[in-house]
Amino acid sequence: MNTATVPTPTPSTAGARPAAALSLRGVTKTYGQLRALDELDLEIGNGEIVALLGPNGAGKSTAMEMMVGLAVPNSGEVTVLGADPVTATRTGLIGTMLQAGALLPDQSVRSMLRMLHALQAHPMPLDAAVEQADVADLLKRRIGTLSGGQAQRVRFAIALLGDPRVLLLDEPTVGMDIGTRRAFWDQMRTVAATGRTVVFATHHLDEAEREAGRVIVMDRGRVVADGTGPEISAIVGGRVITLRGAEPGQVAQLPGVESAAADETEPARVRALCSDSDAVLAALFTGPLAGSVHEVLVSAPGLEEAFLRITDHSDTDTDTDTDTDGADR
Ligand code: ADP
Ligand code: MG
Repeated sequence: MNTATVPTPTPSTAGARPAAALSLRGVTKTYGQLRALDELDLEIGNGEIVALLGPNGAGKSTAMEMMVGLAVPNSGEVTVLGADPVTATRTGLIGTMLQAGALLPDQSVRSMLRMLHALQAHPMPLDAAVEQADVADLLKRRIGTLSGGQAQRVRFAIALLGDPRVLLLDEPTVGMDIGTRRAFWDQMRTVAATGRTVVFATHHLDEAEREAGRVIVMDRGRVVADGTGPEISAIVGGRVITLRGAEPGQVAQLPGVESAAADETEPARVRALCSDSDAVLAALFTGPLAGSVHEVLVSAPGLEEAFLRITDHSDTDTDTDTDTDGADR
């Protein structure tokens, strides 16, 4: 829709709704037989901070490439603040930190930022971008010598150069250690507080829960869940019990346990999703594990459980076609 210049309210916009920051309607993208996006509908309002979650191959990166005009849909419509994606990119309405964004290895960070800064239609002052992305300490470095996390900070600075109203960050904290991740999100929050719309894709569920007001889960080119972190988590009922002193296989046998596995961040701890936490606790403290089990914690299920449940294909699939590119699992 071309509502390009004068946002005249029409009778149909009784609620005086401004153009969405991002709007994808019925967007389909195929690569040969593969449907990377399947009639994807997505609307993101001004100033929202949105996390895009989903397994590898869900279509997160393809959706972001559409939003900046790097991929063209087979059908459907994409707009950025009412403009088409190519125009929005050229005029600096939208800035991106894409997964595949190449950097020139032989240049210094400073010279590359200067060069890209000169290409912007309405740049933010270079010093401001440097400060907001916290790359002042990297300016003299040759790009080829940066660590993965440092290169991500430089990509963040590049995304900010055009002073964009909408920021897309595709897995921005890949290659960062925990301390650098924290610092990155501190910076990002400052940037978002200026009223920008921020959409980021991540595999870190804790980041989604903490940083985003809205979490959208994608799978197979579609949106399969959309809500606040707690709303998405609430899709999964029951309780999570974590404990030490037992094997996942032993815990999985207990009455009231749906599934049990080693905790991702703390492998010595068992994490069990329970349909009946009272029954599980009773069995834990009266059964054969009673002497060995300790540090038992009961909590509400998190985004992690919701995410696994929402994107679990085991009841509809032969189980072999989904994880062909799931190299990091
Ligand atoms: P995500 O970012 O969620 O991991 P992608 O958007 O990168 O997912 O990929 C969605 C699907 O589209 C995947 O199956 C991927 O292999 C495929 N795909 C993405 N880009 C291309 C391309 N340029 N050519 C062929 N297939 C592609
Ligand atoms: Mg991706």
